[in-house]
Amino acid sequence: MATVTLSKLDKTYSPGKKDSFRAVKEIDLEIRDKEFMVFVGPSGCGKSTTLRMIAGLEEITGGTLKIGDQIMNDVEPKNRGIAMVFQNYALYPHMTLFDNMAFGLKLSKTPRDEIKRRVDEAAEILGLTSMLDRKPKALSGGQRQRVAVGRAIVRKPDVFLFDEPLSNLDAKMRVQMRTEISRLHARLNATMIYVTHDQVEAMTMGDRICVMKDGNIMQVDEPLQLYNDPQNMFVAGFIGSPPMNFFPGSLQLDGGYAYFTEAEEGGNEQPFKIRLEPHLKAIAAKQGTQPAVFGVRPEHIEVSDTKGADSIDAVLDVSEPMGAETYLYLNTLAGRSFIAKVEADHAFKVGQTVHLKFNQERVALFDQATEQVLK
Ligand code: ATP
Repeated sequence: MATVTLSKLDKTYSPGKKDSFRAVKEIDLEIRDKEFMVFVGPSGCGKSTTLRMIAGLEEITGGTLKIGDQIMNDVEPKNRGIAMVFQNYALYPHMTLFDNMAFGLKLSKTPRDEIKRRVDEAAEILGLTSMLDRKPKALSGGQRQRVAVGRAIVRKPDVFLFDEPLSNLDAKMRVQMRTEISRLHARLNATMIYVTHDQVEAMTMGDRICVMKDGNIMQVDEPLQLYNDPQNMFVAGFIGSPPMNFFPGSLQLDGGYAYFTEAEEGGNEQPFKIRLEPHLKAIAAKQGTQPAVFGVRPEHIEVSDTKGADSIDAVLDVSEPMGAETYLYLNTLAGRSFIAKVEADHAFKVGQTVHLKFNQERVALFDQATEQVLK
């Protein structure tokens, strides 16, 4: 069983010194046996540090790390049953692909024919069989990354660790390698932990995704759960592209109805006010009149030429055709900018006033102070 358990795992770089920095803050997480777990978050959030602590490349300064039933805090990297694939491939330029893949096995004194069997098998899985005599410089970036993966496979680890392995590849190659790694996970049936700052990679590859910010875990969930049910504004804004729109304002209860009113921006404009439908009304009723943030994704805004009974007005600033769809950059009458996703063949003109309806089933309300979702 290769469950990886982090309990109050903590990392302070240069503890006690003037430049000490706490990069990971007592995080708790269980990565299940055979799970594909993605760590995602902006640069500096602590995802690589966490992965490197699991790998044994970075000293753990607090808490415990378990793989299976064994506490690994002080176990040498080579004895943890893990193999890591790095962003820069870390291949030996003077060695052939075969020797690059065989290197770790030779060090651990694996018998020759066993090495050959394992390298041949990994090469076959990765489509590298015909290239085993080549040296890394005779390979494309994607092929080099495959060799780096091959070097991990031959060690038959319980846990694979990937540190932004695709970030040096061009966009097309990244998409291809993404599916290859997912396929590999299905085939090898191993626990995989994958670090990326790319939310699309996270969404498409992860069984579950752990979103990090400032050394903390913001939410751990399955991809669609994160998209549909974000627990805070950070996750809501990080997952989804273009990101969720946020309108600061306030909830009001009045005469048996509940409303959300956008905050004024310049002081002299007309903020929108909408009546909340039953499930948002129930939240407002529970929370009472208070400041809140109204969160709606670009794909959950209906844009129309014609004014409806409770539509709100906005002015079209920029129209950005993306091929299959178009992003409309709009401003509310209070001057707040936001994005709506519409069909490619729309007829809206820049400068025109359009009329919106929010799909309230998909709207999230957040506490303005804590940025946590209101339920
Ligand atoms: P990136 O995607 O940029 O690699 P990350 O989320 O993986 O970001 P980490 O590399 O884990 O972030 O770094 C987390 C924080 O710890 C950053 O603020 C970084 O500057 C700091 N840090 C990393 N390594 C060290 C170090 N050796 N000494 C001091 N601070 C460090």
